[in-house]
Amino acid sequence: MGRVFVGDGYCHHVSSDFPALYRLGIVGAGQIARMTHQAAVKLGITPRLLAEESDDSAALAAPDALYGHPDSLAAFADTCEVVTFEHERIDLGLLRRLEDSGCIIRPGTRTVAAAFDKMHQRRVLLNRGFPVPVFAEVRSPDDLIDFSTVFDWPVVLKSVRAGRPGEKGVWIVENSQEAMAVINENADRELMAENFQPIVKELVVIVVRRPGGNARCYPVTEVVQVDGVAREMRSPASIGHQVATEAKDLAVRIANELDAVGVLAVELFLTTDGLVVNELAARPHNAGHHTIEASPTSQFENHVRAVLDLPLGPTWLLAPAAVTVNIMGGFDGVNPADNLPEALSVEGVQVHLYGKRPLPGRKLGHVTALADDIDLARDMARRAEAALEGRRPW
Ligand code: ADP
Repeated sequence: MGRVFVGDGYCHHVSSDFPALYRLGIVGAGQIARMTHQAAVKLGITPRLLAEESDDSAALAAPDALYGHPDSLAAFADTCEVVTFEHERIDLGLLRRLEDSGCIIRPGTRTVAAAFDKMHQRRVLLNRGFPVPVFAEVRSPDDLIDFSTVFDWPVVLKSVRAGRPGEKGVWIVENSQEAMAVINENADRELMAENFQPIVKELVVIVVRRPGGNARCYPVTEVVQVDGVAREMRSPASIGHQVATEAKDLAVRIANELDAVGVLAVELFLTTDGLVVNELAARPHNAGHHTIEASPTSQFENHVRAVLDLPLGPTWLLAPAAVTVNIMGGFDGVNPADNLPEALSVEGVQVHLYGKRPLPGRKLGHVTALADDIDLARDMARRAEAALEGRRPW
């Protein structure tokens, strides 16, 4: 037993049996880390987690987790061969120093920087000729007035930096009063403005890429948003072959441009004027959860394979249609875990619960159904969702 101190006041016993081969560390211990951990365990690899709280979703399933703030990364990285992330809230300066000192960080600083800072991301993409919304920094209300006189309302205001899960970071504002209210309420956050996109569909392409450039894409997924929150993911997206090919081509070119390693999720808007890049996430993504059952190799397993520079697995769909529905905490205080038997009685639906305390608006799990068509898969998934939420009939 060794002892590693991680961050102020935290310490943890480190068992000496952390295997010498594939010592993978994951920063963060939410549901993405939990599912990545499960995928690694399947391969005989037991990653170590840097958790913040003992009831973090992945920490509940990984007794060997270390505890500390993400700034404790240096001490954590010391115990690992390769470090990867489940979120982008990382001190980039520290990350660069670690990389310079020889730590293997995947994805690397260049990719994390683009995922972490939306202004930087927009600039990088624009400079390389990728289609993005028109954007501007909002350092003062005047910046916004200038923007709105050129682009008219509504205007989309965004927090430049990735927030914590569930933290609101996008506001669609209809006039200057609404905009000022957002600016005043978020005086401590850097904001940016974007022109409102005429969205026809929201799409996500999950690309997975190894060091050296070998990359694969999953079929394009369509995301249905409710009140700015992703509720339902449908794969394959009901788009034409040409749009799907264009979307995947865009995503792979972006991954190559950023020299991404691991999963890069490229969120796209299909607009009346074509495809526009909305956002990048340098980690497994909610729009790829169906791949656990719907693909020969899940996005989580392929992320592990990629960051450890192992051969990637196939990404095609095993059924004509897959639908995933997120299970969110409601205001009624219902705990979906209490309704597990009812949900499991919906034949053919895969139920995933993350072990999190139920809070309104919190993502507590997801359900996935595979079927011969999207409508059937959607119906099955919705029935399991209703059962978990205690609604009848399911
Ligand atoms: P988050 O980081 O919260 O996922 P996103 O940038 O993905 O933020 O925005 C959340 C949602 O807001 C999008 O899925 C889309 O529905 C809407 N949205 C974001 N940007 C725009 C835009 N420029 N025009 C129209 N709608 C937008």
